[in-house]
Amino acid sequence: MHTHILLDHGSGGLASQRLIKDIFVRHLDNPVLSLLNDAACLDISGPVAMSTDTFTVTPLFFPGGDIGSLAVHGTVNDVAMCGAVPKYLSCGFIIEEGLELKILERVVASMAQAAEGAEVQVVTGDTKVVPKGAVDQIFINTTGLGEILVHDPPQGNKARPGDLVLVSGSMGDHGLTILAHREGLAFQTPIQSDSAALHGLVHKLMQEAGAIHVLRDPTRGGLATTIKEIAEQSAVCIELDEAQIPVNPGVEEGCAFLGLDPLFLANEGKMICILPREYAPKALQIMRSHDMGHSAAIVGRVIAGHPGRVVLNTGIGGQRLVHMLEGEQLPRIC
Ligand code: MG
Repeated sequence: MHTHILLDHGSGGLASQRLIKDIFVRHLDNPVLSLLNDAACLDISGPVAMSTDTFTVTPLFFPGGDIGSLAVHGTVNDVAMCGAVPKYLSCGFIIEEGLELKILERVVASMAQAAEGAEVQVVTGDTKVVPKGAVDQIFINTTGLGEILVHDPPQGNKARPGDLVLVSGSMGDHGLTILAHREGLAFQTPIQSDSAALHGLVHKLMQEAGAIHVLRDPTRGGLATTIKEIAEQSAVCIELDEAQIPVNPGVEEGCAFLGLDPLFLANEGKMICILPREYAPKALQIMRSHDMGHSAAIVGRVIAGHPGRVVLNTGIGGQRLVHMLEGEQLPRIC
């Protein structure tokens, strides 16, 4: 038995088959995957939401998660943000020759656990091995499929003047954790990634909160960039109240130390929900009584005029315009 990945493991021959059986099927097993057909044949009814994402995070393992769980949560959440119940995932692995099999197995086992928690099945996959140096350890692509729950699902262009803006929890945890862990920094208050599946909370909101106009997860670029995208797509002005935006103490401390703004840092287990003012109290209550939304808050409002503008009412009583993140603040965070 080999201890490291060889080019042979991606050849499609005997070594590939053994790898698929011993690691992928063993951990991710389900009736569709175990058939090992050329394609997964799925039971799904339309309309369907589909999303794909590729994960290149470094380091592979970090406080609060790893590339395997992140690859499940990231795609499941994007599907859920369309008002859909995520059901199936595909996963494609690009693995660097020489990677320890133990590391691959740890990643796949974590993926399996995350998929179970997110109530999705990994039904098809692919493995490629590339020569040493052609990728850094492992890159993973996942594609997700889900069934859209409602007739008129949330969309980025549906924010309307009069709507309120909610976030499901603290901002910046994932981005700062990756940066700090990579640089070997520790802060007085420990921080960890918020990587988590939001399907359950979305489902509850869709069923009980009333018509939701926009759902989106503020991943790369953080809350600020995502809100700016929504303001542009919906051609509205959005006003945020900095003092209402939840930020964990460790993130606040780390951001002050490094000169970063938590509103531009990535999140992997949080959502923005924009809906008519009259439904906001109910939505807030649903979020706060759910495991994924204990520190949810109403952080802003949609107003008429100035399409595409985002205004931040700062903690010290001023106002400033919010722009999208320019360039790459932190590469390879997801
Ligand atoms: Mg997203």
